[in-house]
Amino acid sequence: MVYFAHEGGKRVYCQVIIDIVHENVASPFTYRIPDGMILEKGQRVSVPFGRMQKEGIVLSLTENCTIDESRIRNVIRPLEDYAAVPPELMDLAEQMAEEIHCPLSETLRLMLPAQMRGERVHVKTVRTARLAVSTVKGAEAAANEKRSKKRAELLRILADGKEHPVHELADTVANPLDALKKLVSDGLIILTEEETLRTPGGAFSQPENPGFTLTSGQQEALDEIIPCLNGKGGKFLLHGVTGSGKTEVFMAAVRHTLALGRSAIILVPEIALTPQMVSWFRNRFGPVAAVIHSRLSPGERFDEWRRIRRGDARVVIGARSAVFSPARSLGLIVVDEEHESTYLSDHHPRYDARKVAQARCEKENATLILASATPSILSFARARRGDYMLLEMPRRVMDRPLPEVEIIDMRAELENGNRTVLSGTLRKAMKDCISRGEQIMLLMNRRGYNSFISCRTCGYVVKCPNCDISMTYHMASNDGLLRCHYCGQTIRPPDVCPECKGRYIRYFGAGTQKVEEEVQKLLPGIPTVRMDHDTTSGKDGHGKILEEFRSGRARILIGTQMIAKGLDFPRVTLVGVIAADMTLNLPDYRSRERTFQLLTQVAGRAGRGNQPGRVIIQTYKPDDPVIGFAASQDYRSFFEDEFRRRKRGLYPPFTLLVRFLAESANESKAADTVSMLEQKTREMLEKHPGWNRKVLLISNDTPSVKVLRGKKRRHLLLKMLVSPEADEMIAAMTEMAREEYQGTDIWFEVNPTTMM
Ligand code: ADP
Ligand code: ZN
Repeated sequence: MVYFAHEGGKRVYCQVIIDIVHENVASPFTYRIPDGMILEKGQRVSVPFGRMQKEGIVLSLTENCTIDESRIRNVIRPLEDYAAVPPELMDLAEQMAEEIHCPLSETLRLMLPAQMRGERVHVKTVRTARLAVSTVKGAEAAANEKRSKKRAELLRILADGKEHPVHELADTVANPLDALKKLVSDGLIILTEEETLRTPGGAFSQPENPGFTLTSGQQEALDEIIPCLNGKGGKFLLHGVTGSGKTEVFMAAVRHTLALGRSAIILVPEIALTPQMVSWFRNRFGPVAAVIHSRLSPGERFDEWRRIRRGDARVVIGARSAVFSPARSLGLIVVDEEHESTYLSDHHPRYDARKVAQARCEKENATLILASATPSILSFARARRGDYMLLEMPRRVMDRPLPEVEIIDMRAELENGNRTVLSGTLRKAMKDCISRGEQIMLLMNRRGYNSFISCRTCGYVVKCPNCDISMTYHMASNDGLLRCHYCGQTIRPPDVCPECKGRYIRYFGAGTQKVEEEVQKLLPGIPTVRMDHDTTSGKDGHGKILEEFRSGRARILIGTQMIAKGLDFPRVTLVGVIAADMTLNLPDYRSRERTFQLLTQVAGRAGRGNQPGRVIIQTYKPDDPVIGFAASQDYRSFFEDEFRRRKRGLYPPFTLLVRFLAESANESKAADTVSMLEQKTREMLEKHPGWNRKVLLISNDTPSVKVLRGKKRRHLLLKMLVSPEADEMIAAMTEMAREEYQGTDIWFEVNPTTMM
């Protein structure tokens, strides 16, 4: 609603949420809207605050106010002439603040591009020149007059009467600006500056996609989805095996959404997957597709945001934060690879992009599609309960077979004297694959060269001085240093053991660099690319590596879990998993789920084209049922097994796992704080009859990572039965965690992403 302050001489006030930039001011402040100023909810404004000027967001407008009129100050000015946060997103921010128990200012800042959060808003402009004289003849005459060569040349170019960007003129005439200015003062031309948008391209190209005749699986899924797109809304879990053609279902759903004049948001779990998705959508839908992710320059992000806000871009593709993009009349949100933990934010405020997507869809009568070949246990359980409609695509497109999977027992390899990371079977398969002219993907879920360094004599393990984590050796191509993957600390590898002065320092375990080295020994001269955190840090780093591989210039792709999901390379016929146990051994109730997902997803990268695929999984635990379920790509059996295990052990979704984590430079302070929190929790439970039975205190001790970034850590773990009271308990605990605890930082989390 727009208020006109001067209408009927009424005074109009607004409530403004201030300081979305720095500290949190929880409650809004009231300001007067001066005569003639027009404001609406969600607009950014500049207001006086003490002796300062602050930016704020208009939360509401009123005609009367209860505060002493003389104490109210005027809004200084609006920062834009439109609401930076549209009404739907204002509502969403309010709902989220309530649900995750955090100040509104914090959820509101999620809705704004970085450029509107305190940094200067920089609008990129281009300068163009065009003729001021009315006729082309006049220009020619002027050009023939006595002038400098430069000016005459410029006039000749401009004689076509069109607008020419100055940077293009500079291609023919060196440093044209002074000459152009002279022509302006002669009244011959006009220089203007116009706003332009930066549209990020990306180095990734995709062959023109003709659009397919849909498979029966795709058609059946769409038959359910399409009737919901016209404002009816619906919630779907699309469970389709790898290679069943889920992307094609999204694209068809998007096409219908656009035809209805609405817009769509496609969420992908990692930046690595945006270039591929963007090029698919750009090829189909052209520039209505926008891309938003954290690797864009702030300027690019801001411009894409504005294209979306204006309604020029109506398909938004991005990682989790794209769920907040101001899409005009939202019709559809797709969450691709919905099982990925990257949908949980790791910064404050911690939100779950899947939940936010669902809340947005419910508010805006849009349709939600969660999609995966390996849905999260939580989502699949919800679908079974009827919260989502389950759509299944159990077959690959063109009836391509699922790849054949072999499990290799690495203990036997070791017994037979093979000390390398590649088993005999994998070596032979790699040679065959390359000689057939096909491509290989190798998964190694740890970056660096060696995973830890230890003294053979006394067992000392080199750990990060700031964290309780073993250091990883990185090859000379980087700097030959040991590196901590948690805090980035580097140290020179020791020659003698700092504990026993022994000289038998050994390097154990392998990382992607080690795999790369062995592959180069096995297949010398075969071009190989490596994709991990170290090689993808630059702008568009992902895109460039994937393009090397997609184009066929590189024949082998080695990488961490980044390569496991979503990528579609038809010439890959062999996938090797170097060490399947790596995730299985993590101290987390989700490690089985993660391992199943990772193995099934990476196996699914093989045989997506016309040649059938082969997968080789190397493991030290060949008999573990999770490895077996993944090898047979049997989601249902895995789900039933895991669901039963969770029920028995009282894990989510049967309970909520709650953790208070205390970090302090001083160990006893961290321990005291956690004990204090335990005491308060017990008191809270006593006070409410019946609550005691719903909560289980599991532990008050040190987590498996005892020190991180120099801070000592303690945690309190609780399990809470899912019940109507749970939300009240969580609210109370959130309050507890917000209190001051001398010299200690508190993290309060419900179902935390990591338990370490
Ligand atoms: P998923 O995401 O389910 O693993 P994709 O959406 O990546 O699978 O599709 C797998 C491959 O099948 C892609 O190369 C895609 O272009 C192709 N494809 C999708 N639908 C069809 C179809 N109806 N007919 C033929 N090929 C298809
Ligand atoms: Zn560290």
